[in-house]
Amino acid sequence: MTTTPLQDLAKSLHNCQRCKLAKLGRSQVVFGVGNPHASIMFVGEAPGANEDLKGEPFVGAAGRILNDLLQSANLSRDDIYIANVIKCRPPENRDPELDEVEICKPFLLQQIQLIRPKLVCTLGNWATQTLLERKVGITKVKAQAFYMKDFVLFPLLHPAAALHQGGLLDTLKADFKKLKEFLDRNTKPAGPTSPASPAALTLQIDPPHPTQMDLF
Ligand code: URA
Repeated sequence: MTTTPLQDLAKSLHNCQRCKLAKLGRSQVVFGVGNPHASIMFVGEAPGANEDLKGEPFVGAAGRILNDLLQSANLSRDDIYIANVIKCRPPENRDPELDEVEICKPFLLQQIQLIRPKLVCTLGNWATQTLLERKVGITKVKAQAFYMKDFVLFPLLHPAAALHQGGLLDTLKADFKKLKEFLDRNTKPAGPTSPASPAALTLQIDPPHPTQMDLF
């Protein structure tokens, strides 16, 4: 059976030993899941305990919040692809360390190159700073479109923020409303789907307005 380059990449990372997380208690590499033809990709930080057990990103409490937020933007997991900046669970859910991000980032970039999403929604500071390549706080850049070379980046708060600070759920809901408005402005009427590309949204993103670059 022939495999796709994305499947080959996942296979090449299956027993990855490139960074110290391989020996710090992870049970498996959490590569990513979803529609390999997705126009929209979500990128989180790192797998937690549930993700480490199941081998899929965002299957724990933060994942349940994410599912509700996706639904509020008329998105389902079938429409999107989800991955993390680092693919292995850090011990005690500590923050990723810089060497771990440096080692794992090329694989995230390869995933993006192979999936070719038009829109990448980063969840939280780590994913946002990794893909923007700037040390900028998420609250300053969230819910806005940044036109990168190959895709539009749309940073959002990490859903886990609402677990720690309940009030942030309303902020997340408002920001997903902005995401939905962005999608509504940039989605073409659905064309025929094929078995190879089930329910993939067709995004047609216009070039940026000059003011959108002012933030930097
Ligand atoms: N938080 C993340 O950033 N990623 C997951 O997969 C789960 C929780």
